[in-house]
Amino acid sequence: MVNTSIKTTKSQEIFAAAQNLMPGGVSSPVRAFKSVGGQPIVFDHVNGAYIWDVDGNKYIDYVGTWGPAICGHAHPEVISALHTALDKGTSFGAPCVLENVLAEMVIDAVPSVEMVRFVNSGTEACMAVLRLMRAFTNREKVIKFEGCYHGHADMFLVKAGSGVATLGLPDSPGVPKSVTASTLTAPFNDLEAVKALFEQNPQEIAGVILEPVVGNAGFITPDAGFLEGLRELTQEHGALLVFDEVMTGFRIAYGGAQAKFGVIPDLTTMGKVIGGGLPVGAYGGRREIMSMIAPAGPVYQAGTLSGNPLAMTAGIKTLELLGKTGTYEYLEKITKQLTDGLLKICSDTGHAACGGHISAMFGLFFTAGPVHNYEDAKKADTGKFGRFHRGMLEHGIYLAPSQFEAGFTSLAHTSEDIEQTLAAAKEVLSSL
Ligand code: PMP
Repeated sequence: MVNTSIKTTKSQEIFAAAQNLMPGGVSSPVRAFKSVGGQPIVFDHVNGAYIWDVDGNKYIDYVGTWGPAICGHAHPEVISALHTALDKGTSFGAPCVLENVLAEMVIDAVPSVEMVRFVNSGTEACMAVLRLMRAFTNREKVIKFEGCYHGHADMFLVKAGSGVATLGLPDSPGVPKSVTASTLTAPFNDLEAVKALFEQNPQEIAGVILEPVVGNAGFITPDAGFLEGLRELTQEHGALLVFDEVMTGFRIAYGGAQAKFGVIPDLTTMGKVIGGGLPVGAYGGRREIMSMIAPAGPVYQAGTLSGNPLAMTAGIKTLELLGKTGTYEYLEKITKQLTDGLLKICSDTGHAACGGHISAMFGLFFTAGPVHNYEDAKKADTGKFGRFHRGMLEHGIYLAPSQFEAGFTSLAHTSEDIEQTLAAAKEVLSSL
């Protein structure tokens, strides 16, 4: 066993100083541990499946920098490729051949993508895709689902997931009502609700955007027929279907959720894994739609650092590693071992729980479930999750600090790591 009663003196000092320097002491809200209580850990370095804090404690990491680290942190081949690229400079602000290479890889892998545009984050990709949906259809309204997160742009901060759900924020002050008036919402997995919205807003809905497997309200899978139903409804009403695969892309399958479930959207947003740990986002889709983007077409979207050689290099190398035979089989096996184990321990120790996984993405809710949507997810015992999270941390296991975030495994996690995690979970859950 490792790290029981860990000392985190340096973490505490650094975080205390950070609180005077940055709002909440962090650069992104969920990191502040607001919903699980206690102090966040300040980290020093990462490698493989592990992360070390500034006090020298080592943790098995199931956050993976929120998704990108699917090959394991600081993979030697990614680092080595980055060293080579670095010698040629950090950014050209002009075309570079690496963009072609990554673009081809994405187009080959993701069924809906015939052309792609690189940006610097998932938020940017979702903002841009929304403008494109509206321009292509000449309609303004869009449907999103409760608990789904598509970045922090104004028009998506309506019943959003991730930090908005974690912190229990209603939506966000500063977002003009006029901007969100066109954002319609429905419960995830509720086709009837979507149908009703289309009927109530004839010829007005540009499209439907969703996380095909939700990761920002905890881990929620689509019911059988849900994605297919959305495909049919959007087609019937002349609207576009957009999969936000920022989290699921190259994670639940090489070709993302669309490859896994065989439902092909019109447009797709990506991020996280395709940047291999550097800031990259992307959106892509049918050529006819993507050709509307400037300078090929009139829809404006741009970026100083977009497609920079470092980010492209990390993405290319990461996808190369993922493209090897057996990768997704391994991720599936290791993650199943984890979720099956956690559910069994919950049952043995008398804690109501439900959860699951697809490939390297997983979740565990402290509620009997089943969880089909955000309302169901909110029935989870978040207080218990907070205690579980703290207990796991003290046993050297770093989980996402929120009941409403999915967890991530990587190619670097071994069966022994999972066993160690389960042994910790058994101790923690027995004592809760
Ligand atoms: N969409 C989804 C599905 C996400 O999970 C996230 C980030 N967690 C985003 C969009 C926003 O991406 P970023 O944080 O890179 O802006």
